[in-house]
Amino acid sequence: MPFPSLADLATSGVPADGFPTVDELRDDLMELSRAHPDRITASVIGRSRLGDPIHLFTIVGGERSVVVAAGVHPNEPIGFRTVQHLARVLIADPDTFGFDATWHLVPCIDPDGTRLNEGWFAAPLRRDDYYRGFYRPAPDEQVEWSFPFSYRGFGFDAPIPETSALMELFDRVRPDVFVGLHNGEFGGVYFYTNEADAVLARELSAIPARFGLPLDVGEPEIAGLDLLADAVFRAPLTREQIDRRIALGLAEPRAGGAGTADYLERFGTTTMIAELPYWCHPDAADTTDTGTSYRAVLTAKAAALQELHDVMTGILDGVRGDMTIDSPFRRASEAFAPGMGSVAAAERVRIASPETDRPATVAEVFGNAEVVRTFRLRFGGILRRALAAEVHAGTASPSVRAALTALTARWEDWLAADPHAQLAPAPLNALVGVQLAALFATVRRRVAEDAE
Ligand SMILES: [Zn+2]
Repeated sequence: MPFPSLADLATSGVPADGFPTVDELRDDLMELSRAHPDRITASVIGRSRLGDPIHLFTIVGGERSVVVAAGVHPNEPIGFRTVQHLARVLIADPDTFGFDATWHLVPCIDPDGTRLNEGWFAAPLRRDDYYRGFYRPAPDEQVEWSFPFSYRGFGFDAPIPETSALMELFDRVRPDVFVGLHNGEFGGVYFYTNEADAVLARELSAIPARFGLPLDVGEPEIAGLDLLADAVFRAPLTREQIDRRIALGLAEPRAGGAGTADYLERFGTTTMIAELPYWCHPDAADTTDTGTSYRAVLTAKAAALQELHDVMTGILDGVRGDMTIDSPFRRASEAFAPGMGSVAAAERVRIASPETDRPATVAEVFGNAEVVRTFRLRFGGILRRALAAEVHAGTASPSVRAALTALTARWEDWLAADPHAQLAPAPLNALVGVQLAALFATVRRRVAEDAE
């Protein structure tokens, strides 16, 4: 059967903007399963930390097993639209494209975290609203990063209930392919896969252009990744990252657990992540050399992130004894404040290496500056919400209120300095098209490899 056409993927059925809430998403898929009981069945695979049911929707189409989970990072809802659309594509043809696969769709694996982001979900998507309503859990509360592991003196053994639900699903269906629907934020599209497969990498790399979206070829999220094709990286396993940190002398305790790819090694599962931007920028795809040295770019980034660390740590140290609410915002702030110091320290190690003695590309200048902007607004914003929670609950001491006032002024200055505040978002249907095309390319490649 032919590979789906682009028209099938980026259909007019996907809205151009706006994301469903947890309840809207659940209602939509429940309604779909009531309308097509012979095609799609609903079940519950677990409960969130706050007791919300985590639903699974299964579409039986064959022996192969594909698991797709959205909401893996609760500030990344593009995948909600992708799951809604994917379910409809699969219902229309259960053995879609001859993949001989049964599809297990988890529309929202972290409902609790998602509800804390819903303030910016309604169209139009604006950077201002996004950062004001942004929430991302502490690493050890992130679904895809709280799998148990033990390696070289590092370890983690406290998976959150959402991760346990995913582990039980994986154990039961032993996926051939798993795709966690992530998205990035700003710039262009990039991908991760756990397979060092040049054919798949080339295919993934070519997808965004077909939907009119740029690749992101600037600074990778993690230094030292294997580049498989333009903007396609091999996802490093946790033990590889630990080896690398120890080799660089960055052996401070690692926050959080192992990742999904680590857990799925036992099943030989292929994993793929498509990182999609809410806002595109041509600089992300521009590999022209600038007159600025790469070392100077990293030096400025390290200094800015160290400053962010100092600001957040200073506030937390000043109010910790007065804070009474164990909110997710507070736990995230307590994790991300030292996290910013770790990122700064890792960049200082790179600055010292001779490989940074070269001109930076436009994409690198852009990407590194954007990391600083986004980390300030994201993590400073979460700390702001932690302090505001005390004020709203009537538990804020004068020092908590003073800290909130000071941080708010600082944060508004950071936001006012954002040169891209008025940028229009990328069309959501194109983003969904990229995510689906990448998913189908990964499954198709797995089918071809199994046949070899
Ligand atoms: Zn993510």
